[in-house]
Amino acid sequence: MSTLNTSDDNKFVNLKWITRYFRIAEQVSMWSKDPSTKVGAIIVGDKGQIISQGYNGFPRGVNDSEERYHNRELKYKLVVHAEMNAILNALYNGSSVVGATLYVHALPVCQECAKAIIQAGISTVYIDTNISERWKESWQITKTMFSESKVACYYFDMNANTVERQC
Ligand SMILES: [Zn+2]
Repeated sequence: MSTLNTSDDNKFVNLKWITRYFRIAEQVSMWSKDPSTKVGAIIVGDKGQIISQGYNGFPRGVNDSEERYHNRELKYKLVVHAEMNAILNALYNGSSVVGATLYVHALPVCQECAKAIIQAGISTVYIDTNISERWKESWQITKTMFSESKVACYYFDMNANTVERQC
């Protein structure tokens, strides 16, 4: 299973697995009740094992009514991002994510999740979205923090089946 350790040298070997993990992340994203944005994230350990999953949603037990989701301002205050939820779900299980890889489907990683990713010890991040104008600034900050903290980040283009290092 050593081929799961990603480097530029063996990325083509990994493409099959990257695709598989993104398919799961995509499936997890569908569990989100958010009508406008559905993000899915999974954390994978160095043996290829899935440690945890997360999607964007309100904290456990917090009333996640349709009405609240349609109140944008309130929604942003209550929602936990998919990446953060994946980290917190690992914590809930008592699982370490040190050295793990995070796969994020549907949106780039925001600066707040980037901080948590770094502090949790995740070492590699894959995203599968192009960076739109709206996310440019936040993604730039994320990339800067990742680069300085030695978190490798990659863009996976599922249609082209290519991986491109971002930081
Ligand atoms: Zn975030």
